[in-house]
Amino acid sequence: VKGIKFPGSDRVQIMSFPDPEPGYREVVVRMKASAICRSDLSMYHGSSVLDRESTASVIPGHEACGVVEKIGKGISKEEMEPGVRVAIYLAVGCGHCSYCRQGWSILCKTWKCLGFDFDGGHAELIKVPVENCLRLPDEMSFVAGALSTDKFGGLYHCHKTLGVSARNTVAIFGLGPMGQMGALAAKALGAKVIAVDVLDSRLKLARDIGADYLINSSTQNATKEILGMTDSEGADVAIDCSGNPKAENNALECVKRQGKVAFIGESKSTTINPSDQMIRKMLTVIGNWYFPTWEYREIGNFIVGKDLHLERFVTNIYSLDEAQAAYERFDKYETGLVVFSA
Ligand SMILES: [Zn+2]
Ligand SMILES: [Zn+2]
Repeated sequence: VKGIKFPGSDRVQIMSFPDPEPGYREVVVRMKASAICRSDLSMYHGSSVLDRESTASVIPGHEACGVVEKIGKGISKEEMEPGVRVAIYLAVGCGHCSYCRQGWSILCKTWKCLGFDFDGGHAELIKVPVENCLRLPDEMSFVAGALSTDKFGGLYHCHKTLGVSARNTVAIFGLGPMGQMGALAAKALGAKVIAVDVLDSRLKLARDIGADYLINSSTQNATKEILGMTDSEGADVAIDCSGNPKAENNALECVKRQGKVAFIGESKSTTINPSDQMIRKMLTVIGNWYFPTWEYREIGNFIVGKDLHLERFVTNIYSLDEAQAAYERFDKYETGLVVFSA
């Protein structure tokens, strides 16, 4: 089968591999759509975002979906069978710690990541444990399925944790893929959405999604604007999807007393002022990425039920043969979301 690898220095190698054979309680999925993610780029450039050993030996891609083709031993027909359309959960844990037992294998001490630690989605066939297969609703396309996990699912879980609803005004900082999904989910939940970004092109996308207010933080003071929109009270919820220190500080400052803040954008260090920004205001601040396996049914039903059409964010669909061009263009921000299809 065909698949890609990153030998380093912004190169993509299209390679041929032996067909994977499913082991005990493993399945082989025929890839139908596999999304590119910014977190792939460190491997593309030649280093890994997970601070792990060189991953050049692994097929990348952690946002894949497809059709189950082969079933290993130890799996009943009721649990999984060939022909089932599935999205793939990206983490494999030890299987027996308290987190794994609750479907939270991303929190397992020894978790391994699809496309980083073991062969991922940018290949014609993908081998994963059966527990990692998330059934796609019939109405959901494969492209939407690829975007429904890491990109949409994480933001859905964030909103659910913070209790985002029609009662809330939600400020979203950074309208890249995560922020777009966050705005989409918040609107679908009925919230008022304030979109904050430094790029007008991204704010325009936010408007298309239905954002109620747009703030360009390169020319406007985001906190001041948000206080102005909320009778000087502040937003109920702020979600930083940028990882930018200024935005992270704005997120803490623009929410009301007892407000809620989520940090989603990857960020190594930031200077904040806990006394004024968090303690005195009695904020709830969470970090969030991804979701537990059992929640996918709910996520899928939400996407279909609210008619969200995640495909609309995809600007380019490439074959695996075009992977070099796909990564080059994605890296230079010449595209929106990019998906491989096979
Ligand atoms: Zn991702
Ligand atoms: Zn575990």
